[in-house]
Amino acid sequence: MIEMENVSKWYGNFQVLTDCTTQVAKGDVVVVCGPSGSGKSTLIKTVNGLEPFQKGRITVDGTVVGAPETNMSKLRSRIGMVFQNFELFPHLSIRQNLTLGQVKVLGRSEEEAAERGLKYLDRVGLLAHKDKFPGQLSGGQQQRVAIARALSMDPMAMLFDEPTSALDPEMINEVLDVMVGLAQEGMTMMVVTHEMGFARKVANRVIFMDKGAIIEDCTKDEFFGSARSERAQDFLAKIL
Ligand code: ATP
Ligand code: MG
Repeated sequence: MIEMENVSKWYGNFQVLTDCTTQVAKGDVVVVCGPSGSGKSTLIKTVNGLEPFQKGRITVDGTVVGAPETNMSKLRSRIGMVFQNFELFPHLSIRQNLTLGQVKVLGRSEEEAAERGLKYLDRVGLLAHKDKFPGQLSGGQQQRVAIARALSMDPMAMLFDEPTSALDPEMINEVLDVMVGLAQEGMTMMVVTHEMGFARKVANRVIFMDKGAIIEDCTKDEFFGSARSERAQDFLAKIL
C-alpha cells in the first residue's frame, strides 16, 4: 500500500531524513516512535506530499508521490491525516466540518456528504453535537470529530501525528479507543505516538527513528522484546 524507498530530505544543509525505507501493507498498523526531533512528523508527512523530499521514492497504492503526472490533491484526499491540534475549522459547525471536504474535494452532494459525515460522527459517539462549533467541544471530542471527518473521505490509509499528545489525560483513552476500533477493522494506519499501550494492543509493526533515520522496523513483539537497539531501549526506559 505504502512503499518508501531511500527517502532523504534536507532543510538547507541539515539532513532531516536519511535513507528511510519501509513498507506498509494493507491493514498494517505501524507505530512510529522516537525522540523529539528525530523526524517522525516529517516522515509521515512525506507520504501524503505535505513535506516534499529531495531523494528517494514513495508510492501509495502504486501512485508515485510528488511525480509530475500525479494528481496530488486527489491522492491527498484519499489519505486521512489527523494532527496533534485537531485543526477543525473553528467558524464552521461540526456538521459543516464533516461535509466541506467531501463536497469541495470529492464533489459529493450536501445530502450525501451529511449522511456520511453524520454516520461517522455517530460512530465516534458525538452525533448529538452535530450543530455545535468546535470551540464548544472538549479536546478529546474535537479530535474524535477530526477522525470522523477524515473517515468521511473514504481514505485508503490514515496518518496520525501524535493525536493524543495535546489532550488532558482523561481524554486520551476516548481517542485511543476510536483508533483501536479502526485498527481492528483493518484500516491501514501509520501512527506517530508515544502511547505504547496502543502499540502493544494493535500495532503489528513499530518503527523507531533517531536523528532522521529508521533505526528499527520490526514487529511489535520484537520491539518490546530484548532484541532492540540500545537507543530504542534508552528511549523506552524514559517513556515507560
Ligand atoms: P517531535 O517529537 O518533537 O514532534 P519529530 O520527530 O516529529 O519531533 P520533526 O518535526 O519531523 O521531528 O523534525 C525533525 C527535525 O527537523 C527537527 O530537528 C526539526 O527542528 C527540523 N525541522 C522541522 N521542520 C523544519 C523546517 N521547516 N526548517 C528547518 N528545520 C526543520
Ligand atoms: Mg512531531
